[in-house]
Amino acid sequence: MLKVASFDIVFQEIPGEVTLALNLSNCPCHCPGCHSQHLAEDIGEEVNEELLNGLLARYGSMITCVAFMGGDAEPEEVAKWAEWVKSRALKTAWYSGRTSYPRNPKVLDYLKLGPYIESLGGLKSEKTNQRLYKREDDSWIDITSVFWKKNLAN
Ligand code: SF4
Repeated sequence: MLKVASFDIVFQEIPGEVTLALNLSNCPCHCPGCHSQHLAEDIGEEVNEELLNGLLARYGSMITCVAFMGGDAEPEEVAKWAEWVKSRALKTAWYSGRTSYPRNPKVLDYLKLGPYIESLGGLKSEKTNQRLYKREDDSWIDITSVFWKKNLAN
């Protein structure tokens, strides 16, 4: 089962979206230099309809997207709950630490792939190995460079 260790309303993780980011625990990736090592633990509240309905009742009117941050141990569960979110007319995103596409990517509007490698940095680093994709019809468009343009503007 997926568990939410914490959540935030975020503005930069998914460009152009106001996102409810669900930080999922039980991360199996163990990236050296991980910025959120507590997410390797089995902590938090189970993702179920009660939890998601409660979050959407509180934040649904201010968000445009729900992002599953992690959950790589149970990709089918991420797909299941992403489909549930999509049926509520919200966009969906998955921040995965893996390098390959999930089996059912059509339930996602955005997909981040790639483990965190400290020497290369996260999405805001132009050296990063990580990629953020936006789905347009059946194609995935690499939009990672949006983060770098923001860096130039700052
Ligand atoms: S995928 Fe994210 S949370 Fe998991 S080990 Fe890597 S950096 Fe940490």
